Amino acid sequence: MPITVIDHPLAQDLLSILRERLTGPAEFRSLTRRLGWLLVIEATRDLLTERVTIDTPMEETKGARLAEPLVAIPVLRAGLGLLDAVTDLYPDTVVGYLGLERDEETLEPRDYYAKLPRMEGRRALVLDPMLATGGSGSAAIAHVKAHANPTSISFVCIVAAPEGVARIEADHPEVPVVTAALDRQLNDVGYIMPGLGDFGDRLHGTD
Ligand code: URA
Repeated sequence: MPITVIDHPLAQDLLSILRERLTGPAEFRSLTRRLGWLLVIEATRDLLTERVTIDTPMEETKGARLAEPLVAIPVLRAGLGLLDAVTDLYPDTVVGYLGLERDEETLEPRDYYAKLPRMEGRRALVLDPMLATGGSGSAAIAHVKAHANPTSISFVCIVAAPEGVARIEADHPEVPVVTAALDRQLNDVGYIMPGLGDFGDRLHGTD
């Protein structure tokens, strides 16, 4: 599975402010949206296009139009932070929602909410900003595979841990991961180090 860590000075700048402990929710949301633009552009770099003929005011020429629409699936609730970036860039995107929580008996993620649209002919972008253990990321991808039939699935996050990347690679080797950072490791309660703390809390102003 290819993992792409976006390599752009703007991405590094936005991520550095996001990581900063004192960055509050208003700024956090706006930074997430801007960093999301860069991630989504990378995740859609190989979208299918079709050749078209364009009649400019000057003469006829050839161009290309998008031929593979998107479906965005934010994993609740942190994934909501990346949704605007997708719909800003691709307004025709349809949106599905997936809520996952940990089953206290099995300790595995299970879905408590799922509303997925039809995906035929569309590329699915699963949005989950923190790829930590990979448990919920892998479960989200598995849910999409089980209930829909997109042309392909990509996983978009902001920070990835090596453990999470390895899990996605093992469970879904065909799914590319696009991230702004590959961090050092997980701590013993599953947070990414150095990370940026609890993404959902920071995005929604809760704790
Ligand atoms: N989820 C988060 O919000 N942060 C982490 O570091 C890991 C999972």
